[in-house]
Amino acid sequence: MKVQIDPTPVDAVGEALAVLAGRGTYELHRSRHGHQIHARYPWNIAAPRKRPVYPGHRCGQPLTHHTDHTWAQNAPQRTQAEQNTPPY
Ligand SMILES: [Zn+2]
Repeated sequence: MKVQIDPTPVDAVGEALAVLAGRGTYELHRSRHGHQIHARYPWNIAAPRKRPVYPGHRCGQPLTHHTDHTWAQNAPQRTQAEQNTPPY
């Protein structure tokens, strides 16, 4: 599945706004095989964050007031998203 995400990570408020607007949110995973973005589900959203979270892209609707400055790195664009498997 191909998804396009905003380049800037969002904080918890930004994520809530994105979810309420029907945009998915995604987290960035790094491995020696490269970067992957994984869709976030309610159990991911409720857990403490270990990775930057990016909203699904929606033209003209940046969430720049809710940038998460914890993470310095911007997202790679057009990465391959993996289907997330529930952890149970
Ligand atoms: Zn756009």
